[in-house]
Amino acid sequence: MGGAGQRRGARLSSSRRLRPVGILGGTFDPVHVGHLRAALEVRAALDLAQVRLIPARLPPHRPQPVASARHRLAMLRLAVRGVAGLVVDDCELQRAGPSYTADTLAGLRLQLGRRPLCLLVGDDAFRGLVSWHRWQDLFDLAHVVVMHRPPLADAPPCELPLALTQALSGRSAASPQALAETPAGLVWRQALPPLDISATRVRAALRSGASVRFLVTDSCLRYIRRHHLYTD
Ligand code: ATP
Repeated sequence: MGGAGQRRGARLSSSRRLRPVGILGGTFDPVHVGHLRAALEVRAALDLAQVRLIPARLPPHRPQPVASARHRLAMLRLAVRGVAGLVVDDCELQRAGPSYTADTLAGLRLQLGRRPLCLLVGDDAFRGLVSWHRWQDLFDLAHVVVMHRPPLADAPPCELPLALTQALSGRSAASPQALAETPAGLVWRQALPPLDISATRVRAALRSGASVRFLVTDSCLRYIRRHHLYTD
């Protein structure tokens, strides 16, 4: 972590410093408390103005969602209702074609001017970043915040692809405050308390008739029941 990273990009003068906006993309099929806690933890740790939860229409890197975009969006809106600092943004659902993060960030950049943007990605997604569409452009458009969950004790150490290691050179943010000083270009690793919850596990529990209470919000669970989602 160091000064080289801080020198990247034009710095915002202290009088014009803007609290960054966080971006958490995903399929949210369905949104669960792991997503919501992660968004709140990162918002607090980095003093983000807000975190935008952005559901993908057609995720390019994974199997297509089970629930329709309309249902996934409705569940997200119910889940964040009344939660300060969490906002649902349906920009990817409005676009035709695959939901490329580079396009989403370019759109947000036009909307938000020079306000710092922080793209929140989990460890796993970050390791696969080099397969994303125009992945090197991501650093011109946003900071990247890697949400790090402590590995299981017996998990083998994971190495990053060489191209990614090279792209990261000089980008480490010295502190969370550094992210507010430039619009884009830095990388910060944020440790999160582990919550071993995934949408895959929630869907599997619903399919088998097991309880998912306290894994998703009650509002979301009522919606799932009302619309008979995730049962075969
Ligand atoms: P699935 O099980 O269907 O793959 P998922 O639960 O991993 O889904 P996604 O919508 O793919 O959810 O995830 C969106 C983002 O949320 C990703 O960056 C992912 O790393 C992060 N995320 C998902 N679950 C958690 C969790 N339990 N704690 C922290 N971050 C999470």
